[in-house]
Amino acid sequence: MATTLITGGTVVTATGRSAADVLVDGEVIVGVLAPGSNLLGSDLASTVDTVIDATGKYVIPGGIDAHTHMELPFGGTAASDTFETGTRAAAWGGTTMIIDFAVQTYGQQVMDGLATWHDKARGNCAIDYGFHQIIGDVNADSLKAMDGLVDEGITSFKLFMAYPGVFYSDDAQILRAMQTSAETGLMTMMHAENGPAIDVLVEQLLAQGKTDPYYHGIARAWQMEEEATHRAIMLANLTGAPLYVVHVSAKQAVEQLAAARDAGQNVFGETCPQYLYLSLEEQLGAKGEQWGAFEGAKWVCSTPLRSRAEGHQDHMWQSLRTNDIQMVSTDHCPFCMKDQKDLGLGDFSKIPNGIGSVEHRMDLMYQGVVSGQISLERWVEITSTTPARMFGLYGKKGVIAPGADADIVVYDPNGHTSIGLDKTHHMNMDYSAWEGFEIDGHVDTVLSRGTVIVDDNAYVGTKGHGQFVKRDLSQYLI
Ligand SMILES: [Zn+2]
Ligand SMILES: [Zn+2]
Repeated sequence: MATTLITGGTVVTATGRSAADVLVDGEVIVGVLAPGSNLLGSDLASTVDTVIDATGKYVIPGGIDAHTHMELPFGGTAASDTFETGTRAAAWGGTTMIIDFAVQTYGQQVMDGLATWHDKARGNCAIDYGFHQIIGDVNADSLKAMDGLVDEGITSFKLFMAYPGVFYSDDAQILRAMQTSAETGLMTMMHAENGPAIDVLVEQLLAQGKTDPYYHGIARAWQMEEEATHRAIMLANLTGAPLYVVHVSAKQAVEQLAAARDAGQNVFGETCPQYLYLSLEEQLGAKGEQWGAFEGAKWVCSTPLRSRAEGHQDHMWQSLRTNDIQMVSTDHCPFCMKDQKDLGLGDFSKIPNGIGSVEHRMDLMYQGVVSGQISLERWVEITSTTPARMFGLYGKKGVIAPGADADIVVYDPNGHTSIGLDKTHHMNMDYSAWEGFEIDGHVDTVLSRGTVIVDDNAYVGTKGHGQFVKRDLSQYLI
């Protein structure tokens, strides 16, 4: 097996940083050593197959993006990144594992939905991947099938309180699914927005001629998110099921999560870079040369971007510091403007929901370190270590330690990354939601299970290198 020594860098973990060399044998880390160690009687650098010089750079566990939707059918079209293009873009950005969502559609068997997603991903990924299971039709068969998910290495499932007629589960279905998961230990992931009430507001806004993307944010008001979050917490409380609320964007929803956590409940929250940086006023309400007031379609996602004047973004950063929000994923669900987002010209409710960010999460969150919002260690924790613990991967992923997979990123704090279509952009999209963002930092080298897949501004990985990873139950429960 090939050996690699990453030397001269600062190893950063969720709990600290130290000058150390990292020794890799084959696919795993076998040693984290004092710099220049000649433990075995000789200089390691002269005996290994490959030396990576990380002098002046951070050596961190590869990013884990626990919320992506490659090739997801949605709104009459499908997310524009395939598993091939999406995982390659992830690699470019220092993410070495994704957890995507397999979908059971209405009327389908759960295991058939899972098999479909295995077929989409198998042999196509640049980095390792796992699945959560969307249960789009909670019925007696589905509940029975949920018992079998753990054996498949799928230890979390997602329900929707939004999207009536598509993925929506009513309270009775949610209660039954949570009762089942309380027994099996599966993590319930919740899209917490009051879908039926939102649909009324959508109908009324459209009837008033308010058809621009901006009104997507008005219809999906924070009250809809807070109410659904509270309802999900109460149902979880009753059943004892652990609950993970995805893409939290409203500060009031965070307060609901914080109160439940303070009371000792196993409740967790995820936010996304768009809810930290972007807003209702600046992006959803944007007017551009090409698209006019439809420019905002680029940032139509659910939950929606929130008002900066109301302080949601500041509150979200604070929540990351206090651990009221535990981790950051992307909810990567890219659509092109042409022939996809433009389905919603004249009717914001027909704009496919989603933003593409899988490539930029590590950089965008590192900007939080540069600007003083979070510490260097917290950056590693919210982008890698906690995702690993939350979803049963810790030890194998999310840490630089002997025995762990050699999923490693060498990050240059003195480097620079310019994001934009003609700059850094490898996602399969005809625009970037992050156009013009300048990052003080740069992903230099990326290893996936010991193999260098990105190096010196070049992708050197291979399609199919990435393997499906079976997950254990959550290691984050209190
Ligand atoms: Zn969702
Ligand atoms: Zn999603």
